[in-house]
Amino acid sequence: MATKKKKRDAAKKKRHVKKIVKKVRKIHHAQRQAAPKKKAPSVHIKHSPPTVHTERAEYNPYETVLHNFDLAAKKIQLSDEASLLIKTPDRELRVELPVMMDDGKLHSIIGYRVQHNNARGPYKGGIRYHQDVNLDEVRALASLMTWKTAVADIPFGGAKGGITIDPTKLSMNELERMTREFTDRIDCVIGPLEDIPAPDVNTNAQTMSWMMDEYGKRHGHSPAVVTGKPVELGGSLGREEATGRGVCIALREAAKSYKLDLKKITVAVQGFGNVGSHTARILEQEMGVKVVAISDVKGGIYNSRGVRFADAMSQFKNTGSVVGLKGGVKLTNEELLELKCDVLIPAALGNQFRADNANNVKAKLIVEAANGPTTFEADEIFASRGIPVVPDIFANAGGVTVSYFEWAQNLQQFRWEYSKVIAELEKTMTNSYAAVVAASEKYKVTLRIGAFILAVERVAKAAKLRGL
Ligand code: NAD
Repeated sequence: MATKKKKRDAAKKKRHVKKIVKKVRKIHHAQRQAAPKKKAPSVHIKHSPPTVHTERAEYNPYETVLHNFDLAAKKIQLSDEASLLIKTPDRELRVELPVMMDDGKLHSIIGYRVQHNNARGPYKGGIRYHQDVNLDEVRALASLMTWKTAVADIPFGGAKGGITIDPTKLSMNELERMTREFTDRIDCVIGPLEDIPAPDVNTNAQTMSWMMDEYGKRHGHSPAVVTGKPVELGGSLGREEATGRGVCIALREAAKSYKLDLKKITVAVQGFGNVGSHTARILEQEMGVKVVAISDVKGGIYNSRGVRFADAMSQFKNTGSVVGLKGGVKLTNEELLELKCDVLIPAALGNQFRADNANNVKAKLIVEAANGPTTFEADEIFASRGIPVVPDIFANAGGVTVSYFEWAQNLQQFRWEYSKVIAELEKTMTNSYAAVVAASEKYKVTLRIGAFILAVERVAKAAKLRGL
């Protein structure tokens, strides 16, 4: 009897505690909602906020990469053991960066370096500074690098790094201190023959200069530790424009396959950073292609007669955005993706085409300049609607290709002429396109899965030969 009562009391107590916890949570939630949006109180050590989950956060980019990998592995009947071996990241490093801000306060910022696979050569991949950077995103991007270097058939593996920070809120001095701290913390895993970082979203040649300098303090002058450096510090001629130029070559080759006349098509480019701006420039000024819409993080601009690159660039230089350019119609990034045009070039962030908007896309062809802009659900929709997608692991490989040329020049301590860089890039991109098309035709799959098949076969073979 006594035990029964005891049990009843305990259950009652548990229910009571649960009720209180629920009530307290409710009050806290209400307080949070009601609280005016004010700056966080200043504390001596401030942790950067956890990953900001945007409305896109439910799309896990790593799941998309794994999905595509699995489709390819299944097509070529890769064994489960080999699949597991080459799809699992080799190493994941998370580092805390204590950074002194200009106001004398110490912030703790989180950074990552994921080394995905080095069966074919040293790890290679960019460094991203963005408030949404998280481990799964870095994993996805590192994995894409493994497949991309394999598609381009250059002797690198795949890696990626990132720092969870909105760099637009930092001064140049703060950015430099954070970059040097990050370099120190990942020093144990990078090196000219181990892992070679490069620029990505919100990082550039200046970031690479700081990284090279910081790394050199311990290891001696080592320009080959990073690529995407300024030409004055051993950067390659043609590297800055290389990703954009590669995207244009990808578009030109795909246009031949899908019978699109470059002189007649209209193109919309999302993103006006390194990749988007060079893509828009080369399309207009070298290939005579009409770019009718461009955008950046603040929004976009449309002009049916064409958005002149020089005007867009001067608007961007004067105001920090292309929005407000005269002679065009303002549009949002979402509207740009659903614009009536022939070719869409996403050149900003990932997860832009999803199940909820892929059916609204009106373009005849998509060329992926950004990494991971298409979720696998959107990919299926595009395939069923007959919209070919030229995949990121081929289309934006121009950057890493010229990074490879830069690295080779640094190791040889010898500079190539611009014309040689461009000719070699042209060769790599056209050969890769032919190989991607051949694989997709052989296995009757999309260009993306064709590219994955090509890459997975090459990486699996290298791993097997090395006895990994
Ligand atoms: P960047 O930082 O130079 O430019 C990013 C651009 O995207 C900017 O114009 C920015 O305003 C815009 N943007 C940011 N958030 C946006 C949003 N929510 N909506 C619309 N636009 C937004 O970066 P980048 O180097 O040009 O890289 C762009 C893409 O290309 C990324 O996906 C990157 O991973 C990929 N990529 C870059 C390289 C390279 O060599 N830099 C190589 C291969 C792939």
